[in-house]
Amino acid sequence: MRNISEIYIDGAFVTPHGEDVADLFNPSTEERIGTVRLGDREDARAAIAAAKRAFPAFSRTSKAERIEMLERLGASVSARAEELTAAMTEEYGAPGYFTGFSVPHAASAFFNMAEILKTYEFTRKIGRAEVTMQPHGVVAAITPWNSNYGFICGKLATALAAGSTIVIKPSEMSAIQTQILTECLHEAGLPKGVFNIVNGRGDVVGAEFSAHPDIAKVTFTGSTAVGKQILKAGAETLKRVTLELGGKGPNIILDDADLDTVIPTVLMMGLGNSGQACVNGTRVLVPESRLAEILPRLKAGIEAVKVGDPCDPEVRIGPMVSQRQFDRVQSYIRLGMEEGATLLTGGEGRPEGLDRGWFIRPTIFTGVTNDMRIAREEIFGPVLAVIPYKDEEDAIRIANDTNYGLQAYLHGSDIDRARRIADRMESGRVVINGAPHEPLAPFGGFKQSGIGREYGVFGLEAMLEPRAVLI
Ligand code: NAD
Repeated sequence: MRNISEIYIDGAFVTPHGEDVADLFNPSTEERIGTVRLGDREDARAAIAAAKRAFPAFSRTSKAERIEMLERLGASVSARAEELTAAMTEEYGAPGYFTGFSVPHAASAFFNMAEILKTYEFTRKIGRAEVTMQPHGVVAAITPWNSNYGFICGKLATALAAGSTIVIKPSEMSAIQTQILTECLHEAGLPKGVFNIVNGRGDVVGAEFSAHPDIAKVTFTGSTAVGKQILKAGAETLKRVTLELGGKGPNIILDDADLDTVIPTVLMMGLGNSGQACVNGTRVLVPESRLAEILPRLKAGIEAVKVGDPCDPEVRIGPMVSQRQFDRVQSYIRLGMEEGATLLTGGEGRPEGLDRGWFIRPTIFTGVTNDMRIAREEIFGPVLAVIPYKDEEDAIRIANDTNYGLQAYLHGSDIDRARRIADRMESGRVVINGAPHEPLAPFGGFKQSGIGREYGVFGLEAMLEPRAVLI
């Protein structure tokens, strides 16, 4: 049992004023593995006050000082990679391939921002004006459970690079991971109050951060529904916002695709992070002319994917994070059948041989039309919908016929053609033939997948406000 009883304010671990306690679970066994004492609105306000006090001095630090701090933070996170990995496996159920990406990715957020700062010019001349890029003030970061370290570190690195101070509310379901990460960040020895981390409920600590007049900017990753609430809460004080929200990505198999190479990639892009990723390509668009060839390959491919104990290195799909998430995915599988889609494989219940843990049978629906709810709503589990298309124009139309626009996937042999189609995707990112993540390129959504961009120079500028001085 791990009892997390402190939050981090003004450079120290402190007992929260809030007294509510929430349980923490191992999703692979459903066992209770700890508790977290949650902060309340008073704790949220204390964190904001600390960040506000720290801002004047921190905003005047030099670029070189901030680069040095970012490098220290990155080194501190790297130093405890093994413990961070173990906590993410136990508390979140992430399989090895995902922790193997996530932990180094979190540390590299600091190193990448340090590199960006080295060449970034905060001052430039435009005509007679001298334009300087200014930090916003106190930033609030609110993050989800599906990649706790990456979201905290990415938002923290960017705010600090900009010269802002920050208050962070991670998901209350990730408290063990947050505790170890906070200890790493504390080790880096930054001035007190520069960053503050408060465990707490979204409708308490998150709501306080989203509405408080001393918060200048909210950077949020989570569901579209909560993103809209944050936007409304911030409207009163015209907060700047970056919203990284949900997705329902098209995963398009073009008619010239070599199926031997493409099918494993399509499945990987559809099922990443055990299906709990905003970027997953969960609508698999298949040319009608090749449907009969493709369906048996998708079925065989997904049935070969190992589900189970995330400590097993061959496992690709771990459990859902919580009972609630398990129930939600099960209800979408039932909904798919009620809507008239056909199960190609998978279905309700747990996979064979797994009688405990929040595991889902990897599921593919066929006979799906793009107006069904299973094609329009984010399920956030290992559930794919196959949607046939007639020709290229039809594929583009179906791909863009969605409220979301986060990440789209194209698979085909003719790269020029794929590039042409990419130009027509209403999507913040388009990945051709399973290309790897580019951490310096902008990331974010079109339409209801969000507002603004993170990562690299675009991410840094989203944390800055230009001021023009005319002489
Ligand atoms: P969520 O929206 O329920 O919660 C996200 C965070 O917001 C949590 O810390 C939660 O406590 C907090 N929150 C909840 N209600 C709040 C409120 N009223 N005011 C302020 N904060 C509040 O999302 P989740 O279930 O934790 O994560 C899954 C969702 O996140 C999915 O929709 C997924 O697509 C999305 N997501 C998006 C990205 C992206 O980069 N676009 C990345 C990962 C996850």
